[in-house]
Amino acid sequence: MNIIIKRFDKYKEPNSIDMSYPVFEGLTLLENFLKIKTTIDPTLVFSGVCRSGVCGSCSVMVNGKAKLACSYKPKNGDYIEPLGYHEVQRDLIVDKNKAHYTLKTSHSWLNGEAKVENSPKVTVQSDCILCDSCYSACPVLVVNGDFLGPFALTKVYRYTLQSNDNKTSIDAIQKNGIWDCTLCGECTIACPQGIDPKMDIMNLRSKSVQSGYNDPNFTNMDFGFGGFGFD
Ligand code: SF4
Ligand code: SF4
Repeated sequence: MNIIIKRFDKYKEPNSIDMSYPVFEGLTLLENFLKIKTTIDPTLVFSGVCRSGVCGSCSVMVNGKAKLACSYKPKNGDYIEPLGYHEVQRDLIVDKNKAHYTLKTSHSWLNGEAKVENSPKVTVQSDCILCDSCYSACPVLVVNGDFLGPFALTKVYRYTLQSNDNKTSIDAIQKNGIWDCTLCGECTIACPQGIDPKMDIMNLRSKSVQSGYNDPNFTNMDFGFGGFGFD
């Protein structure tokens, strides 16, 4: 069994190359990376801190889908590459700063983190480990690099559950936010923590309408009447 890892080094030409490595059966993908590094190729660069699905640092793309390397068992022919929509630093290491900056943009931290009390949900947004799997799965980032993205919007929704004054947060997610989401659900499928960003975004849309906002996609439609939209 073999896996193929997309290697990247901006100082080499070509800077990207696919390399095949044997699979150490029974081990997770992260353990395979470690084995490869210690026994075959010490130049392989990857990240993985806690090795138990808590830190979120080892997420990579496997055959085009985001996976936590510490919990995924590789299969023959798997194609491993870094997360999408992130600047690649070296091999499987990406710069998460831009994606995580969306948390500030969305103002979800402005008033601090409040505890989720009496929440009916089994999985709450506070379980997010910032692995960026949802961000990497989101097709909107292909066409809009400024889209806030699923985990930032999930954080906003979490915040709105606690606060009586959501105006700042709701205002912050109108542009490049909830209305840009296509509700495809890829983020929900990708999340290793069972968080449902799509549902959170739908709930934020509902809260936005209650706050007086309209769906701009809806208001811009002309319904075949030659461009008469709603104001
Ligand atoms: S549901 Fe929305 S946020 Fe989630 S992946 Fe699809 S477009 Fe992105
Ligand atoms: S919502 Fe889920 S997939 Fe997205 S960053 Fe958080 S833990 Fe990862």
